[in-house]
Amino acid sequence: MSNGHVDVVIALGSNIERERHLPEAIRLLRRHRGIEVTEVSRFFESAAVGGPEDAPEFFNAAVVACTRLGPKELRDELRDIEEALGRERSEDPDASRTIDLDLVFYGDLVEEFDGWSIPDPGAASAPHVAVPIADVAPQWVHPVTGETAYDIVAAMDASVVRPVTAIQLAPPHLTRGPADWDDHADVYAPRFESLVRQQLMEIGEDPDREGLLRTPLRVAKAFDFLTSGYSASLDDVVNNAIFDAEGADEMVLVKDIEFYSMCEHHMLPFFGKAAVAYLPNERIIGLSKLARIVDLYSRRLQVQERLTNQIAEAVQNILEPHGVAVIVEGRHFCMMMRGVQKQDSSTVTSAMLGTFKADARTRTELLGLVRG
Ligand code: ZN
Repeated sequence: MSNGHVDVVIALGSNIERERHLPEAIRLLRRHRGIEVTEVSRFFESAAVGGPEDAPEFFNAAVVACTRLGPKELRDELRDIEEALGRERSEDPDASRTIDLDLVFYGDLVEEFDGWSIPDPGAASAPHVAVPIADVAPQWVHPVTGETAYDIVAAMDASVVRPVTAIQLAPPHLTRGPADWDDHADVYAPRFESLVRQQLMEIGEDPDREGLLRTPLRVAKAFDFLTSGYSASLDDVVNNAIFDAEGADEMVLVKDIEFYSMCEHHMLPFFGKAAVAYLPNERIIGLSKLARIVDLYSRRLQVQERLTNQIAEAVQNILEPHGVAVIVEGRHFCMMMRGVQKQDSSTVTSAMLGTFKADARTRTELLGLVRG
């Protein structure tokens, strides 16, 4: 816990279309601006507790996350995610559900709210809650009992909760994998993974051959990172790292900022270096933040011209400086590997605002510094 951030544990459960809803809930948590997911447990299977005898079994998991939201706010956000995944609340606490997201631990908070409490009572008594938590955060200390999550599970009959295999998790049309897939239920984004699998078949590959078995999973993870700019915001990136310039008015230039992006025409990478300069007017920004701003806009499908302009506009908006200049030099795989196959060509784009646009001398000074 630092900076007003609190580590929390969220328990998840689903027994309606559980192969789809559980991974999707984790994905929505990962994409949430106010919740930073740091760890995800394996998936576990358990019989429905308390419901009718033929109630479908649950998939359960637990997530460790970091947040600035208060406990009530966080619980509201979890409810919103439940709703987005079609959860209908009924009077019956044992009813089947698409998804259940329970805030189990909130730092070491112990508090009674109206009709709910933290820690969630299930953490100490319900195997389907405790086992996934022990899987992802064995050393987490229960703030009331003082026991670790590991000790809690060791002291209960946890045999009713079983780890889920990858085969159980695959959507029905994906169940042809070999029986020796490892036990680890490593599914990230089922719909995305099934699309990648289909793509592999379209190009004439056999997605069941050994080297490709985990490729859909890997591609899903890679794309989540490569497109993470969509779910981040400029505010999060800047995160209050704006300071008083204290009279400083000389040009600030950060150059050779490496970037990696993907062209929106071919979804192939383009990469290179960016230089970002501004002329301070009362406000300056932590230098590393300029690189973060470049990442924010490059981790999306882009064209280099727009990337360049977006970086410049972002700096303009947060600092309102006398001028902003951004120069991007990129090499495009769609040109290097296909089409014209010009391996050595690079593309230079620039955006000049304020003094950099109006004053040729300032521009010349900048270009000298960038090249030098
Ligand atoms: Zn392209």
